[in-house]
Amino acid sequence: MDLGLTGKVALVTGAARGIGAATARELAAAGASVVVTDVLDAEGEALAVELGAAGQQAIYLHLDVADEGQWQEVVEAAVTRFGRLDILVNNAGIGTTPDVEKETLDGWNRLIAINQTGVWLGMKAAAPKMRAVGGGSIINLSSIFGAVGGFGASIAYHASKGAVRLLTKSAAIRYAKEGIRVNSVHPGFIDTPMLDSVDAEAEAAILTSTPMGRLGRPEEIAAVIAFLASNAASYMTGSEVYVDGGWTAR
Ligand code: NAD
Repeated sequence: MDLGLTGKVALVTGAARGIGAATARELAAAGASVVVTDVLDAEGEALAVELGAAGQQAIYLHLDVADEGQWQEVVEAAVTRFGRLDILVNNAGIGTTPDVEKETLDGWNRLIAINQTGVWLGMKAAAPKMRAVGGGSIINLSSIFGAVGGFGASIAYHASKGAVRLLTKSAAIRYAKEGIRVNSVHPGFIDTPMLDSVDAEAEAAILTSTPMGRLGRPEEIAAVIAFLASNAASYMTGSEVYVDGGWTAR
């Protein structure tokens, strides 16, 4: 499918590796100019160089999504470099495992700042630029754990991803008449560095509970994000799209 992203400008957070990197590659291959952002500067720079070497338009900018000042600077820099902003992928996130009683206030606040507050700050910074060009598409990364309680652990992660699911819908309604579509993507278990800390026992539990019996690939999430970014999804806003090998169907 030709996604028709030529001339569009996309900003992807947490794009140095994993789902974010796959998304940057997918959007660039579909013709978009891509602003790769992350806190992992060496990896992010390397990805921008890789895309440039393939004849695609990309730059890397440092962006800690929990920092409102950095959001303002990076969005301005993106528009200065490429002239506009059409697509925002709020992908940056961290995962932690403590349950209700093991979680600490510091751990909770750090995760919420990145996974939840960061998504709001991104939409706040980017929406005015999208309005200026007549519309845009925002894709927020939630999770299957934004909809169901999983294994009864990761209390802060569940809270943040549930919040992303609903702040997406609030923003979708807010911007529906302004041509800015806002949707959430809910991956199941995807083979990225985020799962590196999962031990053999937990991985077996994941595979057993996933109807398709395998982990997803980052590219399988990126393809759905690129679809939502494109005009092929022109009547979709406030949607939550599950890409989970059947996990939430059980
Ligand atoms: P990952 O750990 O491979 O990549 C996450 C990226 O976010 C990293 O490059 C990291 O440096 C960056 N990041 C972390 N903190 C940041 C900050 N404060 N500011 C900017 N960037 C920051 O993880 P992934 O699996 O690619 O996850 C991407 C998104 O998908 C996350 O929001 C995650 O919660 C979500 N998700 C992942 C899975 C999975 O199984 N891998 C499942 C459901 C949802």
